[in-house]
Amino acid sequence: MTHKALPFDKQKIEEIAKLYPTPFHLYDEAELRRRARNLRAAFAWNPGFHEHYAVKACPNPVIVQILHEEGCGTDCASWAELMLSEALGITGEELMFSSNDTPPEEFAYARRLGAVINLDDISHIDCLAANGGIPELISCRFNPGGEFRIGTQIMGNPADAKFGFTRAQLTEGFKKLKAMGAGRFGLHAFLSSCNTDNMYYPTLAKLLFTTARELFEELGTEIAFINLSGGIGIPYRPEDSATDIAFVGAKVREVYAEVFGNTPMRPAIYTELGRYMTGPAGYLVTRAIHHKDTYKRFIGVDACAANLMRPAIYGAYHHITVLGKENAPHDHVYDVTGSLCESSDRFAVDRLLPEIERGDLLVIHDTGAHGFSMGYNYNGKLRSAEVLLREDGSTRLIRRAETNRDYFATLDILGLPRLSEEK
Ligand SMILES: *Cc1c(COP(=O)(O)O)cnc(C)c1O
Repeated sequence: MTHKALPFDKQKIEEIAKLYPTPFHLYDEAELRRRARNLRAAFAWNPGFHEHYAVKACPNPVIVQILHEEGCGTDCASWAELMLSEALGITGEELMFSSNDTPPEEFAYARRLGAVINLDDISHIDCLAANGGIPELISCRFNPGGEFRIGTQIMGNPADAKFGFTRAQLTEGFKKLKAMGAGRFGLHAFLSSCNTDNMYYPTLAKLLFTTARELFEELGTEIAFINLSGGIGIPYRPEDSATDIAFVGAKVREVYAEVFGNTPMRPAIYTELGRYMTGPAGYLVTRAIHHKDTYKRFIGVDACAANLMRPAIYGAYHHITVLGKENAPHDHVYDVTGSLCESSDRFAVDRLLPEIERGDLLVIHDTGAHGFSMGYNYNGKLRSAEVLLREDGSTRLIRRAETNRDYFATLDILGLPRLSEEK
């Protein structure tokens, strides 16, 4: 299969491109809402269930607000992400602060917002105590070490990861936090990334639920929530299968009953999904501007890795549709490149596509997570606009494109007049 469906056609995108020149990221509001609703429905059996959307995936306030309307809070890990959440009024227990290597002043800011703080390390207990104080509800991030397996398959290598408390540190840390006034606890772990295996969450849940039960029995601490964090993947390739979120929710429910059934424990389930929430709802729209035939055939487009770096840094696959040519024979082998002076700046390598002419619009799929947000300014390239495709088919500019003036803004201290003017 070489096809991935789109919620728009060429004519629609040509209209949008008249308003907002390419390249731009386009987000499908209907799909964002659908994803949030499906997740909520899958965990509706758990009364305290809450998704804290990992804002780093797509930190646009309009996107965060749409998800908030669907019942999602936020998961933040930096000062700016906390500011974004605060600006939208998402504070208190709707806000998770799951940071690591945390600057002390960020703990203090998170405490002022009443965030639920998820500590990454036992040494951070004292740091938090000195910067905002130990709250009544507190969470710790668990790193079980060893290898993380689903069945016989190795899905991650926690022992090598920089995140989380060891098992012994969890007991010690919970004890210490209790002595310092904490009364309710959360337990968190993030052990695999971009995982579409339906057993990822259930396997992780088994580990966390069992550990929570042990901690409850050892220390008598109330486990208020278990945070399954992020990591659910999306099908980037047309032949990949999507996670069946309803199945995942039902399986986690079975594990919950198995581990907690004969105990008084009824913790809430939290999630911190990023990629799963926004990834498939975003598209990078770009135009073919050059055609080059050397030892290979290249199509140069007006976007580059500064707008979407995943292919360049991970060799990640992103599907490409040439608008208006969806049904044309895919009989041309192209490398689709950006303009960075970097050989890795290619959105596709040896990809079978229909014949592309200059001016054709290309849609790069699944850019709604870690697309715009990983953008950068290498080679003096500018970040693009972000556009929302509303449910009624209208569009709204939700971030303007950067200008050269933005690029030079931090040089204002030099007072060079030509760097502060737009040509
Ligand atoms: C990145 C991140 C997430 C979200 O991860 P996804 O793979 O996008 O779901 C959740 N929690 C923490 C702590 C993270 O760093």
